[in-house]
Amino acid sequence: MQKIEVGAAIGIDIGAIGTKLAIVSRGSCRLFDSTYVPKIENEIPEHYIGRLVSAIKMLKSYYKIASDDKELLGVGLGIPSWNGEKKMVANSPNMEFLNDFPLVEALEEVFPQWEEKIVADNDANVAGDAEVMFGGWEGSERGINVFTLGGGVGFGGYLYDPTSDKLIKVTGAHYRGGEGGHIPIPHPPGAPKRKCNCGYDDCLEAYASATAVMNFAQMAITPQTGSLIDVMVAQDPVYDRSKRRGDQVTPLHIEKAAKIGDNRALEIQGWLAFALAHGMRAMNQIFDPGLFIICGGMSRWTAAIRQARTILHSLPGVVPNKGVRVCSSRLKNAGILGAAALVLSENDNVGDEHQIGKDPI
Ligand SMILES: [Zn+2]
Repeated sequence: MQKIEVGAAIGIDIGAIGTKLAIVSRGSCRLFDSTYVPKIENEIPEHYIGRLVSAIKMLKSYYKIASDDKELLGVGLGIPSWNGEKKMVANSPNMEFLNDFPLVEALEEVFPQWEEKIVADNDANVAGDAEVMFGGWEGSERGINVFTLGGGVGFGGYLYDPTSDKLIKVTGAHYRGGEGGHIPIPHPPGAPKRKCNCGYDDCLEAYASATAVMNFAQMAITPQTGSLIDVMVAQDPVYDRSKRRGDQVTPLHIEKAAKIGDNRALEIQGWLAFALAHGMRAMNQIFDPGLFIICGGMSRWTAAIRQARTILHSLPGVVPNKGVRVCSSRLKNAGILGAAALVLSENDNVGDEHQIGKDPI
């Protein structure tokens, strides 16, 4: 059996499709033993917790043997729609069965030795925690802002406090702060108007989320426009002829079409880049983080991220925007790593012991 270093926690990434969990130690972004709890239709929370507890017990036993009889430090959970004040999932559109269920309390009852050591936060904050502890970003100990570009736009903000020489995570009076996807941005020139799901006009999320770019592409896919996005969808091995082509478009199809010079795709890429650049500009003026990390599925669309960086560098501001670093995340399993970091950071100072690496883009 592989030996594991002492000082590890279980990271749990709860998603709409299933739950991934693994043992994570502070010194490495490599996962030790990991397991998966698939989603079951029409499940009640008590049954889900039962399956989750079995998976945790399995990892706990593994760690005990691999570490010469040591115990894990605790359990961290990353959960979308997490209400940190009530310590419950609230108004989740994808995991209704967990809504208003005291998840942390239920785990604490089974594992009383981990009282106060079972910690949860929302998925965007957790992505930020992963970048702080495991991202290996030079200078991140002086501040880091993370945007997650997925179905929505999430944000994790970490500010440097010179008095304590520590990073402070933006949480707010009700643990609801740091909703960076819902800051207002100027309307990207030429883009169709989109209202945000929160009800406000002009939110960053309405123009920089995967949902937004897919929506723009759906409008572009018509027989009249002849966009290459349409061709990319049709050439996809998973393309289903029995379904509407527009319903099957993903950001990757738009990225591929943009790469070969399709005007419609380049226009959508430009709107995304414009929106993201203005979102980062706003945060830079308030937080001066010096470093932005883009996470989530669309972070691999490097042409869009580069374009956003170029626009950001050209924008005026009191805090200089020129030269601010903008990079794509290079972490695999950021959800699990960040969840474990919630516990591991409690046991040490956040932000030190980085594995220093080069910015990839
Ligand atoms: Zn909004």
